[in-house]
Amino acid sequence: MVLFQHRPEPLLTRDAFKISVLSALGGKCAFCPAAAVDAHHILDRKLFEDGGYYRSNGAPLCTRHHWDCETTVLGLAQVRSAAGISQILLPSSLSPAGFGAEFDKWGNRFLSGVWTGYRLAGPLAGDPGMIKALTASGLRSWLLFEPPQENENEMG
Ligand SMILES: [Zn+2]
Repeated sequence: MVLFQHRPEPLLTRDAFKISVLSALGGKCAFCPAAAVDAHHILDRKLFEDGGYYRSNGAPLCTRHHWDCETTVLGLAQVRSAAGISQILLPSSLSPAGFGAEFDKWGNRFLSGVWTGYRLAGPLAGDPGMIKALTASGLRSWLLFEPPQENENEMG
């Protein structure tokens, strides 16, 4: 099951998703004039029990900007905006507790207050691809695997 902030949309096949996403912006990357070569899943497809091949979950990207999205250097709001996507689509794995919260591509939730900048690991906490991507961008140390305690407001 998938929850939508606005209207439901059809689940596409892998091929239909790829064709629709890559042709969306005249064949260009959402962030630069280079040709789109990757149909990027805005939220990782492993977060979706049905594969996540929804048009609102796809952005056309060149190789460089695809890497920036995988490593979360570019965030979800940035990629949705660049790709002209106004619908926020969340898999049921990120709801209902996380509905409306800010996530990264891998379903990790951004924390607030004294923990601003930190992320709480989501359903893909043990995923090697996620760990590899965040390590590559230097953001791995901002990922927490346990919710921070109220009195832990100083990091050693
Ligand atoms: Zn690009």
